[in-house]
Amino acid sequence: MPEEAHNDSVEAPGEACGVFAAYSPNQRVSHLIYFGLFALQHRGQESAGIATSDGETVTVYKDLGLVAQVFDEPALAGLDGHLGIGHTRYSTTGSNSWANAQPAHRQVGNTSVALGHNGNLTNTAELAGMLGISSATTDSDLMAEGLSRAIDDERSDARGLEMAITKVAPTWKGAFSVVIMDQGRIVGLRDPQGFRPLCLGSIPGGGWALSSESAALDLVGARFVREVAPGEMVVIDANGIRSHYPFPSTQPGLCLFEFVYFARPDSRMYGMGIHAARRKMGQILSEEHPAEADVVVPVPESGIPAAQGFATASGIPYADGLVKNRYVGRTFIEPTQGLRDQGIRLKLNPIPENLSGRRVVLVDDSIVRGSTTRQLVAMLRQVGAVEVHLRVSSPPYRWPCFYGMDTSDRSTLIAAHLEVDEIREHLGADSLGYLSLEGLLEATGVADAGFCTACLSGDYPTDIPEISDKFQLERS
Ligand code: AMP
Repeated sequence: MPEEAHNDSVEAPGEACGVFAAYSPNQRVSHLIYFGLFALQHRGQESAGIATSDGETVTVYKDLGLVAQVFDEPALAGLDGHLGIGHTRYSTTGSNSWANAQPAHRQVGNTSVALGHNGNLTNTAELAGMLGISSATTDSDLMAEGLSRAIDDERSDARGLEMAITKVAPTWKGAFSVVIMDQGRIVGLRDPQGFRPLCLGSIPGGGWALSSESAALDLVGARFVREVAPGEMVVIDANGIRSHYPFPSTQPGLCLFEFVYFARPDSRMYGMGIHAARRKMGQILSEEHPAEADVVVPVPESGIPAAQGFATASGIPYADGLVKNRYVGRTFIEPTQGLRDQGIRLKLNPIPENLSGRRVVLVDDSIVRGSTTRQLVAMLRQVGAVEVHLRVSSPPYRWPCFYGMDTSDRSTLIAAHLEVDEIREHLGADSLGYLSLEGLLEATGVADAGFCTACLSGDYPTDIPEISDKFQLERS
């Protein structure tokens, strides 16, 4: 596809993407990376891309769309080589252009470098200034640019990429779990807090894989070895695997929302299974906010484990009351007005016989803007639910995220403006209970491991970008 013209301004799109990389001396890796990305599709549905190398030439293929829409057999056949990286991208609307799809690629003399980024930098304006750039569209593009200039400086060194990353990475602030490659190696790098996950696996028959989530390793038959540590840089090439630590060490701060919503339930983080943690959230939620009701109904998919935990702990029977249209994803087809009026039903459809005449506990993992939840409550009442008791397995989402969630505009967060009872009224529920932050941390089983709780607590572990008036960041 032709590259589109760049915008004139530097945006800071919120991204919670998926990254995957593989180095396997005995096989072509394009299919492996494809299936790795396929397993990480939930982390980003706007674009997908893979770069591979046969040791001589780096080839990049990327496009807008889901992984299965972007790649077909001929595309994968064109991606030759035994090492490569892949990326699935999620971003705010407006920055969904081909140019912003990743991997980002630069040719510097004889070195061909590609980069895939999960997270969000907090110093994009400063970086753009340092680089004298006003036309880059994403923070990831700025990273690729900074890196390519550092490579230029180090071109004479055999380990040019490694040295260049060590030199440039300390200028990046905020959240970045990145996979980087040149013709001969792959590199995985996590910011000092480790906001976004990244783990290492071994490939049967030889080689290594890097993945945002452990579930993607399972899917391609790789064995989970360990998490890449916050602040660690892992380099994999013909000489094997080695680590560097380019940053001063600091308190780890994995995004707590990975446990709540982002990660697949079959992934593990900080050594803990995400599904079990979500069940435990539901259990603690039922202790903190019991309800008198006939059934516990989850909002699928992400509310299911917490609803199971709530039902088990409370003794209220669990029932499926909503069916998710699994393939709705993010579609490029704009619904016609008539279809748009169907609203939430495009995504979720009720099972009236499980809801009608019942007092329902509706369990979801989070309320961000409140628009989906409000429609859901109304839909449950339409099909005859006599009471709707909303239970949320995370605390009120009050603060914008600058580390990779699509919520940097505080004005859209319902809990930033309303108290819990006002939210209940706005959503039309009979009662509303949020899990406490202490309860949520307890449910992870690793409360002291180090989490970023900024969106729930307002405690940002790093400097954040200057906030414009519309975000109204004063603490209440
Ligand atoms: P709403 O009522 O519009 O705030 O939507 C709540 C739903 O959004 C819940 O089912 C959450 O699982 C889901 N959700 C939470 N965080 C995000 C996110 N970053 N992107 C998309 N959906 C999300």
